[in-house]
Amino acid sequence: LLGPDGTLAQTIFAEMTALATATNAVNLGQGFPDEDGPPEVLEAARKAISDGANQYPPGVGIPVLRQAIARHQKRFYDLDIDPDREVVVTAGATEALAATILALTEPGDEVVTFEPFYDSYAAIIGLARAVHRVVPLRAPHFQPDHEQLRAAITDRTRLIIVNDPHNPTGSVFSTETLDLVVELAHRHDAIIVTDEVYEHLVFASAHTPLATRAGAAERTVSISSAGKTFNTTGWKVGWLTAPAPLASAILAVKQYLTYSNAAPLQPAIAVGLDLPDTFFSGAAATLARRRDLLCAGLEAAGFGVAVPSAGYFVVADAAPLGATDAHEFCRALPERAGVAAIPLTAFVRPERQSDYSTLVRFAFCKRDDVLQEASERLRSLR
Ligand code: PMP
Ligand code: GLN
Repeated sequence: LLGPDGTLAQTIFAEMTALATATNAVNLGQGFPDEDGPPEVLEAARKAISDGANQYPPGVGIPVLRQAIARHQKRFYDLDIDPDREVVVTAGATEALAATILALTEPGDEVVTFEPFYDSYAAIIGLARAVHRVVPLRAPHFQPDHEQLRAAITDRTRLIIVNDPHNPTGSVFSTETLDLVVELAHRHDAIIVTDEVYEHLVFASAHTPLATRAGAAERTVSISSAGKTFNTTGWKVGWLTAPAPLASAILAVKQYLTYSNAAPLQPAIAVGLDLPDTFFSGAAATLARRRDLLCAGLEAAGFGVAVPSAGYFVVADAAPLGATDAHEFCRALPERAGVAAIPLTAFVRPERQSDYSTLVRFAFCKRDDVLQEASERLRSLR
C-alpha cells in the first residue's frame, strides 16, 4: 500500500513467507500450491525451450496462446472473443491489473473496489494517483450490501474492480450483485474490471463470469491467470480479454511495463487451456476436499470458520483464541504453533482495520499431509 509519504511497504506475502522460512513453519500464508500441475503443461514448456522459443515473443502474446484463451472463453462461457484484437497476455494477473488501472484512469478519477481487496489493487490505484473508494464485505458471508454499492458508484467513478471468486474471503458474488454492478456501470459510464483468477476453483456451482451478464461485455475487462488453474504461480502467465479499444489502450501501457512475457511458457499454457473438462473439474474437487480438511482442523483448534465457496483461502476468526490484533497474531503464530497465515487487515485500508482485527486467512492449496500437520500444530493453541 502506498504510505502517506509515498513509499511502498513490503507486501504481507513477502513478510509472512520470510517468517515461515525462518521459523520452519507450515506456510499457509502466501497462496501457492505445493504440487506441480499437469505434466502435459510442464513438458510443453521444456519442449518449447528445446525448440528455441527463447527470444522476445510479440508483446500482445503469441497467437497460439491468444487463440487458446479465446477457445477457452467459448468452451466454458460461450463468450466470443477475437484473439487478435481482444486478448492481451500479461505477466500474471498482477500486470494485467496494473496496466489496466494505469491505462484507464487519470489522476483524481475514482476507482471502486470491494474491501477486503487484493493488496495490489490499492497499491496500483495509489501509483496511478486515482482515488480509492470501497464497498465493505462483512463476515461471515462477505457479500456487499446493495445500498452501499449504489452509494459508492457515482459519475466520478471511472473503474469498478470486482474480484469474483474473492481473495481473501473465498466468497462468490450472486448474479444479482453482478447485474447491479453492470447496471451502475451503465448509469455512471464506468468501466468494469473483473479479476477472476480463481474461475476454475469454484466448489459447489459453476463460475459465472461477469462478462456473460447482459450488457456487461461491451464495458468489461476480464482478467485471469494460469497460476491458479495450472499450479504454475511462479510462471506469471496471465491475460485479459476486453473490447478492442480497451485492449489496445491497455496494451499501449503494457509495452512499457514488461514489453512481452516468457516465450516458452506461453505455448505451454495454451496446452493447459485445451485440457479436457475432467482436468478442470478434478482440480476443483481436490481443492474442495482440502478446504474441508483445513476447515475441520481450524474448528478443532478453536477458530470460528467462514467456509469459503471458492479459491485457495479460508477466513478464520481468532477471537475465540484471544486474538485482538490479527497482524500481531500472525507475527506470533509461526513461533507459537509452527504455522504461518495472513491477517485480513492486510487487505483493508487503515481506517477500517478495526472491523477485521481478529480475522486471519489460511491457504488450503496444499497436500493433505501438510494440512493434517498444520491442523495438528494448531491444536496446541487451545
Ligand atoms: N488477483 C488475485 C485475486 C489474486 O489472488 C492473485 C494472486 N493470488 C493475483 C491477482 C495475482 O495473480 P498473478 O500471480 O497471476 O499475478
Ligand atoms: N496472490 C497470492 C496470495 O494471495 C500471493 C501473491 C503474492 O505473493 N503477491 O496469497
